[in-house]
Amino acid sequence: MPEIAKSNEGFAIAIDGPASSGKGTVARLVAKELNYAYIDTGSMYRSVALLARRKGIPWEDEETLAELAEGLDFRFSFRDGAFKVVVNGEDMSQSIRTEVVGQGASAVAVKPMVRTALLGVQRDLARREGVVLDGRDIGTVVLPDAPLKVFMDAELAVRAQRRHTELIGRGIEKTVSEVQQELAARDHQDSSRATAPLKQAADAVYLDTTAQTPETVAKQIVALARERGAVDG
Ligand code: C5P
Repeated sequence: MPEIAKSNEGFAIAIDGPASSGKGTVARLVAKELNYAYIDTGSMYRSVALLARRKGIPWEDEETLAELAEGLDFRFSFRDGAFKVVVNGEDMSQSIRTEVVGQGASAVAVKPMVRTALLGVQRDLARREGVVLDGRDIGTVVLPDAPLKVFMDAELAVRAQRRHTELIGRGIEKTVSEVQQELAARDHQDSSRATAPLKQAADAVYLDTTAQTPETVAKQIVALARERGAVDG
């Protein structure tokens, strides 16, 4: 059993799962309810991929990518339910949300040196206060002692439908089956890589969000967190 935290000082909630499993939406609801900080670790890999592309650094060039990642200053803010990521002074919250950048994030995330460069930053951010982190390796690698770990999943077809609706909302035209193929390819790359693959931590709570609203899932996580000693921030 994970250690029960006595107060919210350092209480961390680790949420992992495949793309479009609802992690981000749920993590934000949980962070809002508990008044915790929210750190979207995927946005860090996305930022590295986008900045590399702008600078002409190939997503295969591990050493240069790691140097780039080491030089980045990440600022996260989460106010009134709105999440913002500012990298070296530039607000990248919107620009990193494209499918190409998602694929790039998955490509750079395979590289151990890139992961090492971001790991310390992620741990530092998590140490400060009550915090919710989401990603692929939070419960397994970034915060193996987190008092609450959740692995969120949903059927591929449902995840594809969700992502499709989100893309349409942003004016991006794609068929559901194209979206489904992209998600499946990214999940395969994320779960089959050698370093910090996407996988459920042995002590994580498994939540299938296929037929549940984000609000219902968030309520379960908040209840679990409070049971384990989390107090509001
Ligand atoms: O969560 P999101 O879809 O924004 O993440 C983009 C990509 O970043 C993932 O497909 C994954 O390859 C990578 N990632 C990771 N480890 C994390 C968070 C994201 O490898 N903790």
